[in-house]
Amino acid sequence: MGLLCINCGSPVNALFIQYSPGNISLTKCAKCKAVADEYIECEIMDLVWKAAIIFLLLDTCRQVVLNPSKLHSELSRSDLSMWIATGKIMANTVLSNLLFFCILFIMVNSFKSKKENFENSYMEVSMAILFSSYFKIFILAMMVWDFPSLTVYITDIFVMSSNAVALRVITNSRMLESIGTSFICHLAKLLTQHMG
Ligand SMILES: [Zn+2]
Repeated sequence: MGLLCINCGSPVNALFIQYSPGNISLTKCAKCKAVADEYIECEIMDLVWKAAIIFLLLDTCRQVVLNPSKLHSELSRSDLSMWIATGKIMANTVLSNLLFFCILFIMVNSFKSKKENFENSYMEVSMAILFSSYFKIFILAMMVWDFPSLTVYITDIFVMSSNAVALRVITNSRMLESIGTSFICHLAKLLTQHMG
């Protein structure tokens, strides 16, 4: 079945055109000149939200894997203290990621002023980071089986380099700029999590 414009019902070739990962443009209908299907943007937003939640949950798991005593000592006490400890870890995860994205946007903005053809929005940069962090999924295996904590840091290095590559593609920056940005953002996040 072909694709149709939701306004006038005329057939359209595609609902969006993808220029690079996360960088898409919605197709306009040739007949009525309106966006063929504006709801596709909602579907993309839906996907971004889900990815962001999984990203935060995996980050929370990472903290538990690195420091299981934080939760285990509370488990023996009461349900309430365990919930408080979990809440603290989650709050720390959210805070460290807020810092991560703040630094990321500031640094990406500095490339932007240097290059006039840079047109990526913060949303696209965020999507590039979220989807290039899929190595984090290995944390789940570490929740089940015993791994040396070194494995967590190896996963971090994979995520960091994968983020650097994604940043380079999406911002059209130099390799050194994207590696530096990824490294500084990850370092700031790591320090915040260790202080928590
Ligand atoms: Zn139309």
